[in-house]
Amino acid sequence: MSNKIASIHAHEILDSRGNPTLNVTVLLQSGVSGSASVPSGASTGTHEALELRDGDMKRYHGKGVQKAVRHVNTKIQKALVGMLVTRQREIDEIMIRLDGTVNKSKLGANAILGVSLACAHAAARAKKMPLFKYLRFAYDLPFDRFELPVPTMNVLNGGAHAGWILDFQEFMIVPKQRAFKERVRCGAEIFHELGTLLKAKGYSTLKGDEGGYAAALSSNEEAFKLIMQAIKKAGYKAGKEVFLAMDPAVSEVYEKKTKTYKLRVDKKSLTSTQMIAMWERWLKKYPIISLEDGLDQDDWEGWVELNKRLGKQVTLVGDDFLVTNTERLAKAIELKAGNAILIKVNQIGSLSEAIDAIMLAKQYGWKVSVSHRSGETSDTTIADLAVAVNADFIKTGSLSRSERLAKYNRLMEIEEELS
Ligand code: PGA
Ligand code: ZN
Repeated sequence: MSNKIASIHAHEILDSRGNPTLNVTVLLQSGVSGSASVPSGASTGTHEALELRDGDMKRYHGKGVQKAVRHVNTKIQKALVGMLVTRQREIDEIMIRLDGTVNKSKLGANAILGVSLACAHAAARAKKMPLFKYLRFAYDLPFDRFELPVPTMNVLNGGAHAGWILDFQEFMIVPKQRAFKERVRCGAEIFHELGTLLKAKGYSTLKGDEGGYAAALSSNEEAFKLIMQAIKKAGYKAGKEVFLAMDPAVSEVYEKKTKTYKLRVDKKSLTSTQMIAMWERWLKKYPIISLEDGLDQDDWEGWVELNKRLGKQVTLVGDDFLVTNTERLAKAIELKAGNAILIKVNQIGSLSEAIDAIMLAKQYGWKVSVSHRSGETSDTTIADLAVAVNADFIKTGSLSRSERLAKYNRLMEIEEELS
C-alpha cells in the first residue's frame, strides 16, 4: 500500500460569502485520500501572496477561480504525482519553485495552498493519525504536550465585514477558562446576552461576515461598553474570566496622502501618534489583552513606537502588517515592532511556510494566533494547526455561522480526544 500521490483534483466551490474558492482532493495509490478548501479575505493586506481570480466578468463578477483550478489539475498534479505524500516540505518547495514568483502570482497562492493542505490531510489519514498529531510529527515540532489555544471571538463586526457600519473591524471576547469547552460555553452565553442587549437598545441583531452582530452603534467605543455589560449580565467577570481583544484593521481606514486614519463613525481624523494615544486610553478603561493591526501595514516607525508604549501590557498582533511572512516577521523582530503574529495560511500560500513563520515567532518569544479569513468554508484545518503548534490564540469568529463554529467544534473534539 503506497503513500505515493496517485492524483490531485481541484474544483470550484463557494465560500461563506458566496464567492468561488477551491476544494482540492489528493488521492494516494493506496486509495486513501485527503481534501481541503481554501479561505479568502476581504480586508486583505497589500503584502499578501496572490489569490488568483479569473477576472472574467461574465462569471461570478470576475471572481471565478477556474484558472487556479486548472493549475492544480494540470501543472501541479504533473509535478507531484508519484511523490510520497508524507514529504510535505518537499511538496511545498516543488510548488513554490514551479510558481517561481515571490507572491505566488503565477500559479496562485490559492491553488498552491489547496494542494498543500490536502496533502497534509491525506498523509495524516495514511498514517492513521489525527491531523494535529500528524502535523507535529511531520514537522518535528519540539513540544512535548498538546495545548489548546485561547479563543478570541469576534462578537461585534464592523469595517469591511459589516458594510462599514463601524470603522473598526472586530470586537472580540477572550474567555480564559481552563477547559476549551468552557471557553466556548462562556463565549456563546455572552454572545446571546449581547444580542438581547442590542435588541433592548433598538439596535439591529443582524450578523456580519464572521457571525458577530453588525449594529450601527453611536461610536466605535460603544462596542466595548455593550460587550462589558453583556459579560456581566451573562454572569462572568471581565478582567478575570473573560478579557477583550480587538482587530481594528486600520490599514483599511488609513489615508496615505495625509498620513491619517479616518474614523467616520467617530467623526475624527487621527495621526499615528494620536492613534497610539487612543489605544492607550482604551487599555486603561477596558480589560483588553490583545490589539491587532492597531496601525497601518507600512507604518514601521509607528509600530516600533506602539510596541515601546504598550508592548509590555498588551499583545500587539501583526496581521496585514506581517502577512504570515518570515521576512517581514524577521524585520519586525529586529526592530521590536510588535510582539505577536497572526497566522493565516492563505496569506503566504503553503503549510510549510506558515509553520516556519510560527516557529520563528516562537523562537523569539513572540505570541502566535492562528486565524481564519472572513470568507471561510467548513474546512477545519486551522483548528488542528493551532493545536499542533501550541498556538497561544485562535481567531475564528463569532458564536454563530457553521463555518466559524466548525473550528470551535473541532477544537472541542480534539480536547475530548486528548482527555
Ligand atoms: P479578512 O479579515 O479575512 O477579511 O482579511 C480578517 C482579519 O483582518 O483578521
Ligand atoms: Zn486582522
